[in-house]
Amino acid sequence: MITQHLHQWYEKLAATNKTKKIRQQLGPVFYQFVQHHENIYWIRSPDFLEYYYINSAVEKLLGWTREELYQYPEIWIDAIVLHDREKVKKAFLDFLHGSEKKSLNLDYSLVTASGKIISLKDNAVPIFKEKQCVAIIGTTLPVDGSSNHASEFFRYFIEKSNTVFWIKNLKNNDQIYINSAYEKLWGLSSERLKTHPDSWYEMVHPEDKPHVSKAPLLEFDKDSEHTCSRQYRILKPDGKVRWIHEKSYPVFSNTGEISGCAGIAEDITEDVLREKELRQAKETAEKANQAKSDFLAMMSHELRTPLNAILGMAQILNQSKLNRDQEGQLEVITQAGNHLLALLNDILDFTKLEVGKLKFEDENLNLYALIEKLISDIMPQAKKKNLALSYFIERDVAQYVISDAKRIQQILTNLLSNAIKYTEKGHVKLKITCLQRNNTETTLCFTVEDSGIGIEKTKIDGIFRRFQQIESLYQRTHDGVGLGLAIVKELVDRMGGSTAVSSELGVGSQFSCILPFMLQNMGSEPLKLSPSKGLENIQECKFNVTVLIVEDNKINQKIAKMMLEHIGCKVEVAENAEQALNKNHLKYDLIFMDLGLPDMDGFQAVQHIRLKECSGKRIPIVAMTAHIFSHDKERCFEVGMDDVLLKPIMRDELVAIVRRWAA
Ligand code: ADP
Repeated sequence: MITQHLHQWYEKLAATNKTKKIRQQLGPVFYQFVQHHENIYWIRSPDFLEYYYINSAVEKLLGWTREELYQYPEIWIDAIVLHDREKVKKAFLDFLHGSEKKSLNLDYSLVTASGKIISLKDNAVPIFKEKQCVAIIGTTLPVDGSSNHASEFFRYFIEKSNTVFWIKNLKNNDQIYINSAYEKLWGLSSERLKTHPDSWYEMVHPEDKPHVSKAPLLEFDKDSEHTCSRQYRILKPDGKVRWIHEKSYPVFSNTGEISGCAGIAEDITEDVLREKELRQAKETAEKANQAKSDFLAMMSHELRTPLNAILGMAQILNQSKLNRDQEGQLEVITQAGNHLLALLNDILDFTKLEVGKLKFEDENLNLYALIEKLISDIMPQAKKKNLALSYFIERDVAQYVISDAKRIQQILTNLLSNAIKYTEKGHVKLKITCLQRNNTETTLCFTVEDSGIGIEKTKIDGIFRRFQQIESLYQRTHDGVGLGLAIVKELVDRMGGSTAVSSELGVGSQFSCILPFMLQNMGSEPLKLSPSKGLENIQECKFNVTVLIVEDNKINQKIAKMMLEHIGCKVEVAENAEQALNKNHLKYDLIFMDLGLPDMDGFQAVQHIRLKECSGKRIPIVAMTAHIFSHDKERCFEVGMDDVLLKPIMRDELVAIVRRWAA
């Protein structure tokens, strides 16, 4: 109606673009009405590029001053939301080329000067003068309540977002909507997507194209919760590579069919780069850790050779006649050497645990006998400090279980040694209780209790951490490197158990570990117990056997030779594999083979010896080594060795081996 009036008034107007004249022509009354009306009224040039007139409602509704619009009429078109802009432009063009009778009716959304998205309705008619369009006259009305509508806020949010939002019609592959973030991220115009819906794919990095499909929705399952996400790189027109994380969701029609697909694409380049940096840092740290472990393993191996000499010589000296002073001095050497050895063993075990090289055996063991032996081995330490060392095994604790005897021993020895170390008077007790048992397995709890110095509450938390010691370096009353409990925890964890500690300062501590065990099937295998030692008098042992030692290290040669001669053996020495192979093996009852020889390693040397023997007499061969991983041990047996003797050589172990293989 109002446009009709405007139209009539304008008819009286000469073809001029001067607002002043329009005002004159409109007449003061009608001009007043239009000027202050709450709807927007405007008159534009036929190409829409210029405002001849616009009323003040525009300032209230859209936030621009009229002067701004007169000066920069493109503000309006630029403010139209991206996915409506083309529609509006096209409608204008169609309108321009249309007939006199045509009118323009348009719905679109626009971002106001204050950033609000508002839905508008345009209604306009052309003014013709002598068949020539001289102006367009129209109104702009806000669609009811639109500016407050939540969806408009979302639309605004999406328009401003750096994340790409898109909607696609899957039937005809049309791009229904895409926000302006696409242009920024892809570096391509969103217009092109309208004519070439797959143009986004042109930017996908050539290396990623094979596993990125153009169709986003192929993997959707209609019946499940449907999100499909993928990651790929794009190679932008400026040569920059960006990582994209894309998520898409199906849009269902009323009939439940997938009709479209909505999605988002985010630039995750920074995250990917950060993750890559972290991964690299982790790899570097792991490599450094591996290098440290290798170094520690190598060091403890190297330290064993001189330690072998010290302990070996001490044992040989111990066999000779010594005066009281000398006996005392020798005891100090032996004790210090044994302490060093225990430390080296801990370091080696720890490095093996760290790099996951420590293997666990499943062997049949008599738990009661193992505990008895353990207590008797550790008793001298307790006696020295006048402590009451005792153990208690509850009745329902299974005696015959399957586990790794050496590791159980190691765990309990560590806990018992600590208890003795940190207790000055009173008792140390080992208690074993059964927590659960069925036909095939049982769970046992081992508790070591002492009446020692106890641990401060604040220090308890980190007690199982490696290199953790409660005393400060300069105020130490007990020695140690803080590896014992870390090893206990690692071992228990790896065996599927758990550790715990409770303690009261000045009263004592309780360390416990819970461990699962398989029960032995008593009907099947015969019981294989760890060899028991100590009852016989080894001092008396004499063997009338001939032994070959293959060893390149002069000190080790000497110690092994002296120890073997001491127990009655006739000993010959080969310094390398070649010398060993040239010997007549038939005359030996036993060969000790060092694994690291200068010309060929012990494994190869043994293979050659076994080949030479063919079907003749088979001589027992025992590997001699400072440290051994379980895969090396397996290899020893594979190449035909019969046993392994660890350096430093302990006299009773040597005696046991000679008895087992040669006596
Ligand atoms: P360390 O070689 O120093 O004994 P551990 O890992 O065995 O290393 O023990 C770590 C620390 O825990 C020890 O330095 C000691 O302070 C404390 N600790 C361990 N066992 C006991 C205990 N039974 N009583 C009191 N303190 C203990």
